[in-house]
Amino acid sequence: MKILVMNSGSSSLKFQLFTGVELAVLASGVIEQIGDTIGHIKINFIDASGANKELKTEQVIPDHRSAIQLMEKLFLEQKILTDVSELTGVGHRVVHGGEAFYKPVQVTKEVLDGIKELIPLAPLHNPANIAGIEVLMEKIPDVPQVAVFDTAFHQTIPQHAYLYALPHELYEKHKVRRYGFHGTSHSYVSKKAAEYLNRPYEELKIITLHLGNGASAAAIDHGLCVDTSMGMTPLEGLVMGTRSGDIDPAILFYLARETGMDIPALDNLLNKESGLKGICGINDMRSIGELAAAGDTQAMLAFKIFCYRIKKYVGAYLAVLGGADCLVFTGGIGENDPEAREQCLLDLDGLGISLDPVKNTTRSDAVIEIQNSGSACTILVVPTDEEYAIAVQTLELLM
Ligand code: AMP
Repeated sequence: MKILVMNSGSSSLKFQLFTGVELAVLASGVIEQIGDTIGHIKINFIDASGANKELKTEQVIPDHRSAIQLMEKLFLEQKILTDVSELTGVGHRVVHGGEAFYKPVQVTKEVLDGIKELIPLAPLHNPANIAGIEVLMEKIPDVPQVAVFDTAFHQTIPQHAYLYALPHELYEKHKVRRYGFHGTSHSYVSKKAAEYLNRPYEELKIITLHLGNGASAAAIDHGLCVDTSMGMTPLEGLVMGTRSGDIDPAILFYLARETGMDIPALDNLLNKESGLKGICGINDMRSIGELAAAGDTQAMLAFKIFCYRIKKYVGAYLAVLGGADCLVFTGGIGENDPEAREQCLLDLDGLGISLDPVKNTTRSDAVIEIQNSGSACTILVVPTDEEYAIAVQTLELLM
């Protein structure tokens, strides 16, 4: 049994190959700068003798079709597979499932058409996901493919939380509403938290914070997602690496009037030039931490603004849920940055959330518990694993 998971971005392809019902990782890799002057390829795998190997190369990769051919070539050359047709199934991360797709589905022509119809809602992401699916459908038509949607977990959000206060016909005609993203991660870490606590998922009120280059929060009430910070697009909510998160929408009208910026320029400003990068010039939290420690005031400010926004959402979701049993940190920053965790939860003791500063600095690849004895809410750090979660869902659907 072999399951391939593919996560295609606009200029990248991440892949992971799993084997057996326990889904052990056989190989994982990333192909970046697709369509650029030079592409970068990295693959880690277990060779025939059982040793861990890493391979890095560079070459021109004009498009996703070439990237997939390259992935296949590496699988065959390194004897990771004897033929791609030996795959049991392929799971694809698809960013936008709209309202139509609220759970993983096996890809058919109708499903593919449905994903294509959603391109206007995710013009950068869905075309890359579709490219990955189409190339494999041609190459290995008999191997079933499954689409796992980033939005699906959030489809249980009630109408009063997913609708914006806009003329209702914009929802009816143009599907303007909150969809939410990072759903596979929020679902995976919240279930892991319930497992760790040895309590039924359906009994818990959980706040999950996925803090990476993209960042979002979710409120999960008795097993159902009831609110999330990302909106119709992944731009809303928390401060991110290069995305602003929440701002007053009238800022856009003001900038258009005052500076003459047009729609593409404003889009670029909010998605690529804002967030941590906008405030201090860099989007990588590790580097920001180093700069802040060296006394860089803009880096300190970026860190504070990032954490303050998270704290506001934690407060909001405590109100939404009527208190929380568990709060989960995940993502590159959530898993690895104790200072960010501390700053996000600063002075929340009155709301039943209280960190233990020593436990908070524990380093581990496993789930860790970091609240102090007086905290009503359990605080966990749970490493996310979206590829594994997609492999599980693919396998479940195909069995
Ligand atoms: P992700 O998008 O989940 O891969 O997360 C990327 C973010 O995590 C970047 O801002 C990294 O700088 C940050 N990150 C990764 N490791 C650490 C670390 N040890 N301390 C602080 N931030 C980290």
